[in-house]
Amino acid sequence: MCTGYIFKMACGHEQVGFHERCYHECKRPEGKVRSIEDACTACRPNHTITEICRHYDDLLDEQTTLYSRALRLDDHAKAREYYSNIVNLRVGRKYKINEINKDFEMDVDKPEKPTED
Ligand SMILES: [Zn+2]
Ligand SMILES: [Zn+2]
Repeated sequence: MCTGYIFKMACGHEQVGFHERCYHECKRPEGKVRSIEDACTACRPNHTITEICRHYDDLLDEQTTLYSRALRLDDHAKAREYYSNIVNLRVGRKYKINEINKDFEMDVDKPEKPTED
């Protein structure tokens, strides 16, 4: 049997690493299995975006509730305040997601460094 480790990632994928290979070249090594509270590299941008959306959705829900309550109570000052919070949250979410996509593309498209002699 090959020896190594298996990480069970939060996204449902497994990351497998080998310490030593035997002549069977097994797909899965004998060794430690650990659960990791993180997504694998391939899933990380999506995973992060999902987390961000969830985070902002919660905040937006809260502000939207406050906003409609303020409207019902004819509290226009408060309503304006909550409304601008909602707009800011929407802009913030879009900005964050753009940033992550940009980072990820940079990671993927990074050209090979020329080797120095
Ligand atoms: Zn093996
Ligand atoms: Zn994954």
